[in-house]
Amino acid sequence: MPEPSTLTKPSRPSIHREDIFRRLVDSVTDYAIFLLDVNGNIVSWNPGAERLKGYKTDEIIGKHFSIFYTAQDLASDKPTRELKIAAEVGRFEEEGWRLRKDGSSFWAGVVVSRIHDEQGRLIGFGTITRDLTERRHADLRYRLLIESVTDYAIFSMDPRGYITSWNHGAQRIKGYRAEEIIGQNFSRFYTEEDRAAALPQYVLRTAEQTGHFTGEGWRVRKDGSKFWASVVVTPLRDEGGELFGFSKVTRDMTDRKLLLDELQRHSKELELRVQERDQSNAELEAFAYSVSHDLRAPLRAITGFAEALKEECEGQFSNEGREFLAEITGAAERLNGLIQDLLEYGRVGRISMPLASVNLLDAIHEAKRDLGGLPPGLLTIAVPKELRVRAYPQVLKQVISNLLSNAIKFRRENSSPEVSVVAETQGDTVRLNVRDNGIGIAPEHQARIWNVFERLHDREAYAGTGIGLAIVKRAMARMGGTCGVASKPGEGSTFWIELPQANEK
Ligand code: ADP
Repeated sequence: MPEPSTLTKPSRPSIHREDIFRRLVDSVTDYAIFLLDVNGNIVSWNPGAERLKGYKTDEIIGKHFSIFYTAQDLASDKPTRELKIAAEVGRFEEEGWRLRKDGSSFWAGVVVSRIHDEQGRLIGFGTITRDLTERRHADLRYRLLIESVTDYAIFSMDPRGYITSWNHGAQRIKGYRAEEIIGQNFSRFYTEEDRAAALPQYVLRTAEQTGHFTGEGWRVRKDGSKFWASVVVTPLRDEGGELFGFSKVTRDMTDRKLLLDELQRHSKELELRVQERDQSNAELEAFAYSVSHDLRAPLRAITGFAEALKEECEGQFSNEGREFLAEITGAAERLNGLIQDLLEYGRVGRISMPLASVNLLDAIHEAKRDLGGLPPGLLTIAVPKELRVRAYPQVLKQVISNLLSNAIKFRRENSSPEVSVVAETQGDTVRLNVRDNGIGIAPEHQARIWNVFERLHDREAYAGTGIGLAIVKRAMARMGGTCGVASKPGEGSTFWIELPQANEK
């Protein structure tokens, strides 16, 4: 045997090509490589064959190669058939179970090639066998895994979109069984419009060119019903980069899609309604504002002339005439109050200036002054002298004044009103409670009294415009505060407002 180093020296013709070949075969341990004579008896054996099949050279030479086949294969005369095919077409290739010496089986990748002499006469067969058990297990594990997936439709296609595999999820989602869909084109899952627009072809082309395609859209089940699919298509390429098909993973997202659509519709509707409402509110308010504004001049004329009439002509009036005049003056006063309140409501909505630090006790005293002389003992105030809140001074005074006048106004019959104004500080928030011992408010009315023109009593019982609390609510929102009420009918009410505390002057 020549030294291996001589292999690199082709100038030495003494090295026989057959020798080199034998050495090569002998060095291979991953493949069983052996020769058969024309009848299928083993004539050579390499270390790979010994390792794979467990036989030593001297115990296997001369034996028939059918010794490696399972009883089942032997029963169907498989070894003979294989040699026949190899003899006829030159080569036979398959994967199948083979036996080792110890009786255990392995999954073999087998190639049998015909060997002939220079005249073309058959002189034997060359056999190469590889152990593919591991690969087969991996493939099987992978296939079983994919097949068992039911939440996703997973299938593969050839390069033109003809289906080559089909899992349980695909059956569940699309309704076809594997045997009725394999071999069909995947374009049948698309709607007619999508097919007309050549979407299926586009999907495959995009996947091929960019490495994947992802998308969502309506797809058609076997029964014709539609579902919202989320799709990923990936091209399958062999080691050489040649495209041999596509895999496609599809999820049924119909529930999510319908939910999202519904949500979207709702939010659109809501948006529209809010827009409409805002617009009509704004229009209404602008209208109310200009009307109130325009009413002031004629109202001034009415009040002015009524006063003049009273001063100059009262003596000429009968009692009835004087009553009429008083009615006119009273109605004009009420109208004036209404106009003032409406204008104030509009003003509070439009206010835009920086908030100030306002002394709460000062604001309360100013509000009290606005209400005129109150009977002594009616109002008690418990508010620290230095307590400051962030607010608009005039607006805050208006708010307190509205709450105080209500607290005094909605008194119970046969009991004298008692009102207390108490401040509480919680962290950075100041709460002002305006508490009365009046008629109280039933729970079912406590929400609506904050709306414009909402009143629970007729004018004869309690005078008012129904705008005071609407101003309070709007003003508090404007100042970044909140307001509310706690009340029991017949016992009294506590109206409260909350504002951020202000430290600086
Ligand atoms: P107005 O006082 O002009 O009627 P408001 O907007 O100030 O209008 O109040 C709305 C309604 O809430 C009142 O008509 C009354 O029914 C109820 N209300 C307000 N404050 C009190 C209170 N302190 N006690 C009982 N009811 C009240």
